[in-house]
Amino acid sequence: MKIITLEKDVLVYQFEPENGGFLGLNIFVIINELECTIIDTGFRRHFLQVQKDLEEKGIVITNVILTHFHPDHIGGLPRVKEATIFGSIFAQYTLKKYVEDYQNYLPNITVVDKKKIEFGRHKFLLEINSGHSKDGLLITLNDKYVFVGDDIICDNKGAPSIPYCSEKNPEANINSIKKIIAKLGNTIILPTHGLPMEGEDRIMKDLISRLTYLHYISEFRNASYEDFFKETNVSFLGRDWHVLNQIEEVE
Ligand SMILES: [Zn+2]
Repeated sequence: MKIITLEKDVLVYQFEPENGGFLGLNIFVIINELECTIIDTGFRRHFLQVQKDLEEKGIVITNVILTHFHPDHIGGLPRVKEATIFGSIFAQYTLKKYVEDYQNYLPNITVVDKKKIEFGRHKFLLEINSGHSKDGLLITLNDKYVFVGDDIICDNKGAPSIPYCSEKNPEANINSIKKIIAKLGNTIILPTHGLPMEGEDRIMKDLISRLTYLHYISEFRNASYEDFFKETNVSFLGRDWHVLNQIEEVE
């Protein structure tokens, strides 16, 4: 685990990929004196390391905001029962697919459309953004940091990974990327998996590649990744997910 300091009270706890995978994982910590708000909680093993470090610094986790409720984001929740948990109104929809005891992971405060939170000097804006996952939230901090969950995924060096439409809904993913584009400017984009992204032109280039892919699979659902690459010359890591994006969900 490595701690990246974006500014003195805005930290990224960055974990390396495991088990031969290529994706790392981040837990974000926003500090106000001796309290903090964290964004996402990783798997339990990640969270325990963050919790230990914060305990050693005498900092208590009072708020947790979830970008969405997939298992690699909620693993720490059972360890922070005393904190206030913020999440999308659609949390239950996603949790029911992944965990049996889903009641233990539900947010205390749900976001229906938008919600503002003040935490010391920090101002959060939470907005529903159903893209990668129906229960996605787009989280803006101090008009500067934009936490995008898994709507943008890259490796820890910043190489882009293929968009993963967990709802098999590329159109929703297109809309979520457009919502992120509307936030660009003097902003830093923070994916839960991958390196913080800076520089409007660079970010825009990445997002256009994603839109190219999403439009392509939305139109040519049965085309292979190779077909897509031949057509567009756009390349991603994690192309195994292409097949998952194609499978129609059976309810
Ligand atoms: Zn994830």
